Amino acid sequence: MPSTTDTGRNDEPTTERASTARRTFMAGLGALAGSGALGTTASARDGHGVGGGRTRNVILLVPDGGSRVHDTAARYYSAYQDDPAAFPANIDDVELGIDRADAVGSVSTYPDDPDGQLITDSGAAGTAIATGQKTYPTAISVDHAGNPIETVLERAAAAGYATGLVTTTQLTHATPAAFATHVRSRGQQEEIARQYVREQDVDVDVLLGGDRSHFRADSRKDHADLIGEAEANGYQYVETADELAAAENEKILGLFTETGHFDYSLDRTDDPDTTQPTLPEMTVKAIEVLESRSRNGFFLMVEGGRVDHAGHANDPAVVPEQVEHDAAVNVAMEYADGPGFGRGRGPADTLVVTVADHETGGLVLARDSYHMDWEPIVDQEVSQGVLAAELEPLSSVEEVKTHIEARTGIDDLSTDEANELLDDPSAITGRDSVVNRRAGLGWRTDTHSATDVPVYAKGPDAIVGHFGKHQDNTDLVDGFDAHLNLR
Ligand SMILES: [Zn+2]
Repeated sequence: MPSTTDTGRNDEPTTERASTARRTFMAGLGALAGSGALGTTASARDGHGVGGGRTRNVILLVPDGGSRVHDTAARYYSAYQDDPAAFPANIDDVELGIDRADAVGSVSTYPDDPDGQLITDSGAAGTAIATGQKTYPTAISVDHAGNPIETVLERAAAAGYATGLVTTTQLTHATPAAFATHVRSRGQQEEIARQYVREQDVDVDVLLGGDRSHFRADSRKDHADLIGEAEANGYQYVETADELAAAENEKILGLFTETGHFDYSLDRTDDPDTTQPTLPEMTVKAIEVLESRSRNGFFLMVEGGRVDHAGHANDPAVVPEQVEHDAAVNVAMEYADGPGFGRGRGPADTLVVTVADHETGGLVLARDSYHMDWEPIVDQEVSQGVLAAELEPLSSVEEVKTHIEARTGIDDLSTDEANELLDDPSAITGRDSVVNRRAGLGWRTDTHSATDVPVYAKGPDAIVGHFGKHQDNTDLVDGFDAHLNLR
């Protein structure tokens, strides 16, 4: 049978060979299904390879609202935390997850806004990364007319790859939603939940995030029991970090909060009773499960979703949040470097890419002088919102001073500052909070900004160079598709 792949010509573009391979694979799958030989999706996956014999994986990690400044802040934080006495001379001893990249580039983030607006949101930016097409802010993988745009995760699932979405936000939030669902507005979270569970042709094997309310019969407007439906479809459903750790290698739906997002990393670490897993823990589990579910390989998106929220709040908790995301990047880099977690079925070529969808907060490593002090940022034990709630019941200047010192290490709070907090505990939050001022940490906005964001990539030589340059955020998907031979 003559075809472009059979001619043996070596000057054909990879994409042409890939699309031929995909058509051949899909035709084979169709024949199997027609003959009744197709038992389960997993067994169908076992018999095929679209990656030329070697398993191929893509792990994409998105620090929502991150930037080069956030990366620098994570480096300073890690160095100061490691050895305050050696700081700043030890800054370049720090090895972050991103430092293991083979290629570093950047992307533009502007959306296709009807008014020409430059500043994007996670809907339009997530759509651009997942589909390669720009759309309007708030859109979730639909075009201006509301037509669904196919995502790389959907192409990967159709080609027999295992797929996963992991986030510290609501599972129905914009970034994960843009990879597997299609709605006109990111606010349609009940519809996003419905599509995750009922659009079985998408078949996301691992779904981990926050907020059960959009999946539960007693809180959904249509009273659909999406958790029960997912279990009937073969998902193991878990609600706590312990349950996640104990889960077997089945499809997993994990919803770790009743409503809303995960707590900030800082607040989770401070709470001995937390049942929420960390982002690195979820990343390890997702990789383990996906590795075992397809011989072809997998596509996994991991989002550090609360970097963005700390940015909106101008909260110094943004730095440990970025550090946690970087630890998940390190998990992925470690995996790409190593022999796998032992549940795969052969040698793997893993492409790791980390890129923010946009910057949030206009974060600046300075305020209005040459002064910066990392001690209050490293010593803060909780986010500013939690600290404000803790200050609420206090009734004296001395109590306020004692509590601020216990929670932030700041031991020179003035009586005026303490009085202000006594009158209005919310003064501990926001751009001009005492930790921001003492640290010399600056913010320009409580919204997103229009700056380019960095891209870090590790993977086989044949593909990693795609990410080592400046390009548009819509160009990233070509690299994912090429690595997985999707088109
Ligand atoms: Zn945001």
